Amino acid sequence: MRYSEMLLPTTKETPSDAEIVSHQLMLRAGMIRKLAGGIYSYLPLGYKIIKKIEAIIREEMDRAGGQEIFMPAVQPAELWQQSGRWNKYGKELLRFKDRHNRDYCIGPTHEEVVTDIVRNEIQTYRQLPLNLYQIQTKFRDEIRPRFGVMRSREFSMKDAYSFDRNEQGAALSYRKMFHAYERIFKRCGFRFRAVEADSGNIGGSYSHEFMVTADSGEDAMIYCTSCNYAANLEKAEAAKPELQPANEKELLPCEEVYTPDVKNIEEVSEFLSVRPGDVVKTLIFTADNETLAVLIRGDKDVNEIKLNNFLNAESLELATDEIIYKTTGSPRGFAGPIGLKCRILADYSLIGMKNFVIGANKENYHRKNCNAGRDFTIHEYADLKIVSESDRCPRCKGEMQLARGIEVGHVFKLGEKYSKAMNATFLDDDGKEKYMIMGCYGIGVSRMAAASIEQSHDDDGIIWPMSITPFQIIVTPVNMNDEEIAKQSEAIYARLKERGLEVLFDDRDERAGVKFKDADLIGIPIRITVGAKRLKEGNVEVKFRDRKELITVPLGEIETFIDEAVRSRIEECEA
Ligand code: ATP
Ligand code: MG
Repeated sequence: MRYSEMLLPTTKETPSDAEIVSHQLMLRAGMIRKLAGGIYSYLPLGYKIIKKIEAIIREEMDRAGGQEIFMPAVQPAELWQQSGRWNKYGKELLRFKDRHNRDYCIGPTHEEVVTDIVRNEIQTYRQLPLNLYQIQTKFRDEIRPRFGVMRSREFSMKDAYSFDRNEQGAALSYRKMFHAYERIFKRCGFRFRAVEADSGNIGGSYSHEFMVTADSGEDAMIYCTSCNYAANLEKAEAAKPELQPANEKELLPCEEVYTPDVKNIEEVSEFLSVRPGDVVKTLIFTADNETLAVLIRGDKDVNEIKLNNFLNAESLELATDEIIYKTTGSPRGFAGPIGLKCRILADYSLIGMKNFVIGANKENYHRKNCNAGRDFTIHEYADLKIVSESDRCPRCKGEMQLARGIEVGHVFKLGEKYSKAMNATFLDDDGKEKYMIMGCYGIGVSRMAAASIEQSHDDDGIIWPMSITPFQIIVTPVNMNDEEIAKQSEAIYARLKERGLEVLFDDRDERAGVKFKDADLIGIPIRITVGAKRLKEGNVEVKFRDRKELITVPLGEIETFIDEAVRSRIEECEA
């Protein structure tokens, strides 16, 4: 491609509304342009990267036995009513009516549509297993679209769906996809980690997320430094502490203390000269129609996703001031478990605690030296806290570390959730009609492009991995008005293209400095500079985007040199 003919509008200025580096660089490199909030167009350079990523995804999905299909973006409400998600999905689902006043949505995901196809086409076990995938535009009316295509409303996703006869088959399908995802992200040049994850809006029994490690990532994950346990913080488990029989602390008499104007844990512990870990927080929640109290050690926080999963509630929120008053008899900030007329759950962090501080259910009062069992009853203990680095690995008791990540892929074991709701059955070899066991597997294609930049850039711009770069090589003549330079550059461009290499030829009549800056900004991995001095010696200069040094290469050897460099770099990612 000739630079002079390409729509490649680069800019020097950092756009003020772009918070993270990938968003800034995608705009500056002329990859994307915003149409509306969370809705972007891809310009030629940006779309080339998307197609490269898609090609790798297709290869690996096909290798793993997937069959590519293409489903509609617009979906009728009836299917979503059958699955039960029409009412559940909330405002992220963009709904509208057609001219006949029928309800539709734009697909945020395609479980319903694919299940409808499969229930109509599959009759017997002989037609299973099946893995269908597509690469398609999704729409989610995200509450806070941000970071460009990282969290947009319209985005491209690869979504795959597996259908199996039984649990064993479904587990195998899941493993195959897990393995395919590892290959995809490796080939695309990512440093990533697969972590245990919550199933969220999609539902189902278990799932893993593929996280690209990056400080700018929206997700937090925790991993064990000794074993391979890793989980999204939303899901991360805490081990149940063993009761220490040696904990012989004497139970002291419980007493009420006047604590004027102290409300939060820090204020309480300072006022009473105790550690936050000696205080117990009492949080009042409303889960569906039930009011309940959750107790947790003062230096820990409740993980509402874990709590929600434990309760299996449709909705969960912190109780309103009014409900708190009704339940505890006091305003917010003084709730405690003694005398509460609701179910009381306690996090594992309460196990073994003695003589702790709690709210007195009375404005401006707390209670000292409280003890569960003696002063009040805990109805159930559960793992409800947000895990931190001070916790031990729930599997091996090793040390854990926190990291931030960008979720680029998500695999779910769905089980019978959709096949049951939508009656997707098959006739098994024992003559019985059974529900298909499903899995679903998503990859954020457009998010991958942004994630790649987050992991691979410097002050001058993007540094594309060879496997997904829009061009492998940029040929940069330092002066197009010099006849010899122009001629030799044209020849190099032609010869490299003939070899099947992907070349951008910067044939613009611009100063060398401008061309170098653009080449660095758009991140082409190899630059060949053609200048008068070297050319006289029969040489050109090669610079790798991710290295400082300049390499002098004889004109006659340039194609083999470059060919070899491109190949070895692609192989590096695949190894
Ligand atoms: P998130 O937690 O980031 O909202 P999700 O769990 O809702 O993601 P899935 O339903 O698992 O996402 O979708 C599969 C993949 O699609 C995700 O792993 C992610 O890479 C991508 N994706 C999801 N939402 C967006 C979005 N708003 N913009 C870009 N990509 C997205
Ligand atoms: Mg989401």
